[in-house]
Amino acid sequence: VNDHLRYLSSFGIKNGAALVVENQTGKVRAYVGSQDFYSVRTQGQVDGVMAPRSTGSILKPFLYALCMDEGELLPQSILKDIPTHFGAFSPSNELSGYNGLVTVHEALVRSLNVPAVRVLNRYGLYRFYLFLRNAGITTLFRHADDYGLPLIIGGAEANLFELAAAYRGLARLGEFEPITIIERENYQIQKGPERLISRGACYMTLQILNDLKRPGAEYYWEQYNNQWPIAWKTGTSFGQRDAWAIGVTPEWTVAIWIGNFTGEGNANLKSGEMAGSLMLDIFNSLPKNPSLAWFQRPEDDLKKIEICSETGYLAGPDCLKTSFVDAPASQPTLPICPYHIGIYVDDTGEFQVCSRCWEPGHYKRESILVYTPDVMQFLRENGKIIPHVPPHNPYCLELTGTNPLQVIYPSQNARLWIPRDYSGALEHLVLRAAHRDSSQRLYWYIDGVYFGTTVENHVLPVELPKGAHSLAIVDSTGNRVQTDFNIDLKE
Ligand SMILES: [Zn+2]
Ligand SMILES: [Zn+2]
Repeated sequence: VNDHLRYLSSFGIKNGAALVVENQTGKVRAYVGSQDFYSVRTQGQVDGVMAPRSTGSILKPFLYALCMDEGELLPQSILKDIPTHFGAFSPSNELSGYNGLVTVHEALVRSLNVPAVRVLNRYGLYRFYLFLRNAGITTLFRHADDYGLPLIIGGAEANLFELAAAYRGLARLGEFEPITIIERENYQIQKGPERLISRGACYMTLQILNDLKRPGAEYYWEQYNNQWPIAWKTGTSFGQRDAWAIGVTPEWTVAIWIGNFTGEGNANLKSGEMAGSLMLDIFNSLPKNPSLAWFQRPEDDLKKIEICSETGYLAGPDCLKTSFVDAPASQPTLPICPYHIGIYVDDTGEFQVCSRCWEPGHYKRESILVYTPDVMQFLRENGKIIPHVPPHNPYCLELTGTNPLQVIYPSQNARLWIPRDYSGALEHLVLRAAHRDSSQRLYWYIDGVYFGTTVENHVLPVELPKGAHSLAIVDSTGNRVQTDFNIDLKE
């Protein structure tokens, strides 16, 4: 630690802390709270292991693992990385701008902010907040709503000690418990480990984190003996005040924080290079058991499911290419791929046709890729190729009538009061739509986020936060309706 910090001090970065935990026992084997306890100049008596600091991106892996368990996504699933507004909060990616669509794997390896915030919004801020507390993060002094969605990109503070314990939980394939610095043979912790994430989802998340290679850290990776893989994550807090790197193997958790105890930011602070290189150095010097080089695949906690190869959601009838991939065994059904839909086109493929306008024997069914309007707009504005959707036959009688698809509830510009039930919990809002053709599947999007598919009975119960929302529904022939409405919650 001292060697690294002597080097970093030339960049104006004065402090660092490191923690090494033996995963099997949960015992801390090395604890460096500052580089020099007796140094007044660098505030050596501040304990960098216990000081709560902004978490940057270090919490993201837990969110994605939880969402895999919920059946919301898999590493292959595509997420939106486009300009997004949550009230006054509009997350952005520090380095890369927006990418349009990215897989979960890429979003985590590149630590993209927008997909993480969108995923947290869907998973539920309060649920994730509760997870963090259950996983032993005790420094969340404020209420979940005070942190808001920035919670996932550094809006909250945690200390190195508790973050190391949480990462050890990931390395223990989902069993979380406090780590201990007390060296006693029969030391009793208050309660046993608690399972918060499935073994399958932890294993899949660790596999992603093994692919993390940050620009600037390549040199250190070459120095590092690669036969010992590490699952690791870095994080840099807002204003470059804190750099984190936490890595796990089956045997060890190594956690690093680098920054200034005074809290001042430093433009030179780079988590991959600075905290990451120190982490790798420590891993290099730790004893290793060759039979525990990597995590054992929890076969009985994984299943194979068929997904759409292009979008990473459950293969639907109109997906063109599918593949079988791992999913947590207990995972509820993943959403069906909402992007591939079946349409009828005429012989030339130029126009869509329907039962009211096709010539018998002169039409065919085709699968096409359709993105949501917000993604289409982003791709168009950024000069990207947009999948072509053939327009409906202009001579069709159907077009002269009304849209076959209608929103029944809520009506345009409605102001809705959501009542509470007898227990005080907010009741669900039940959205309703109708389609003239009873065989049509409807795809529901709320505020640009895919919410679900309905068949026959087009009813969708949802829980939405207070504020303005827009509901868009499309059918599989490309008809679309939209309704904007406002929600107030009964106090
Ligand atoms: Zn598909
Ligand atoms: Zn038609």
